[in-house]
Amino acid sequence: MSTFPIEQIRADFPILGETIRNKPLVYLDNAASCQKPQAVIDSIVHTYSHEYANIHRGVHTLSVRATDKFEGAREKVRAFINAASTKEIIFVRGATEAINLVAQSYGKSQLKAGDEIVISAMEHHANIVPWQMLCQQIGAFLRVAPMNQQGELLFDEFEQLLNAKTKLVAITQMSNALGTINPVEQIIAAAHAKNIPVLLDGAQAIPHMAVDVQALDCDFYVFSGHKIYGPSGTGVLYGKQALLEAMPPYQGGGDMIRQVTFEKTEYAGLPHKFEAGTPAIAEIIGLGAAIDYVTAIGMDKIAAYEAELLDYATQQAEQIKSLNIIGQAAHKGGILSFTLDRIHPHDIGTMLDSLGIAIRAGHHCAMPVMDFYGVPATARASFAMYNTRQEIDVLMQGIKSLIEVFG
Ligand code: PMP
Repeated sequence: MSTFPIEQIRADFPILGETIRNKPLVYLDNAASCQKPQAVIDSIVHTYSHEYANIHRGVHTLSVRATDKFEGAREKVRAFINAASTKEIIFVRGATEAINLVAQSYGKSQLKAGDEIVISAMEHHANIVPWQMLCQQIGAFLRVAPMNQQGELLFDEFEQLLNAKTKLVAITQMSNALGTINPVEQIIAAAHAKNIPVLLDGAQAIPHMAVDVQALDCDFYVFSGHKIYGPSGTGVLYGKQALLEAMPPYQGGGDMIRQVTFEKTEYAGLPHKFEAGTPAIAEIIGLGAAIDYVTAIGMDKIAAYEAELLDYATQQAEQIKSLNIIGQAAHKGGILSFTLDRIHPHDIGTMLDSLGIAIRAGHHCAMPVMDFYGVPATARASFAMYNTRQEIDVLMQGIKSLIEVFG
């Protein structure tokens, strides 16, 4: 913890200096969205001030400059997740759009009636609903691998679901509702042993750990820029080149074509085939700045620091009698989901807000997880690399004070 440059990192995030209801902001809603460092804000301001134009089509200097920066961001993403080629990096609006793209393009072209898609019991709605829509459209079936009370995937039961009809496994690397980190290497090995491709939902994992898509050997990997200190409206779909080559376009329009006549359209090659229309140009360039920022700190250092934060928060939370931690997996990322006896999670959220503490209260877009635990909602504190032990102390004091008031 001592070597982690926490003071400098905090100083890089202007919003952390805000006061909320006359209290210093304690921002613990990072699983919903992370705050942005000055480098990302500056990047966006710089693009719009000096380098903005539409990309890929212009012969003029500004357009060439913007195109170079945009494609430079693609190379940054490629290097960050160690994809083999920038052809495998598709820019989208977020993890949700990436999963919908795979469901509608890969799913519709490669799956047929009677096929099965395996997900897990801890998925975000973004990794449930697109598959349900696909199943309805083509007559395929969704199978759900169960979890135990700690919120850990039951691996043997997952493996038993894999059969000749299984055509895709789509699973989260880290649960947004519970913090569980899944054994994705093992999951991928089991699926690949049966020639089943695997999509990893990296929306939560990406800001917390180093990801190497080639070492993982996942077939698709998706994440959102806004959860890794980048701008909202940006996201990434990684897919193995051979899979992406075989997939039809998801949307039609400008930028994804080679030649159009009224009779027929020839599509552009990868990655542009999947990028119809004008993208979020300045924001994608800003995502590149966010990747530079976390890379300079080091993903392994971030992971180690956050693991200590979570340990500390868990120890503190365990000392509060009427607090129930929801999700106690042995391998967990920086998420503390909890309920308090006799106090509704929304009241917890509102009361903590009056103390300047931002947490999330609700179903976290994971209603089946709430059903599993028999709760309508949980309160969720989620940590980022700029959070501190002192902030966790403020959270715990806040919780204790509201137990006194309500309890
Ligand atoms: N998957 C997981 C695990 C998530 O936590 C989220 C966002 N909460 C998503 C997918 C969807 O991300 P977005 O809303 O940015 O598309």
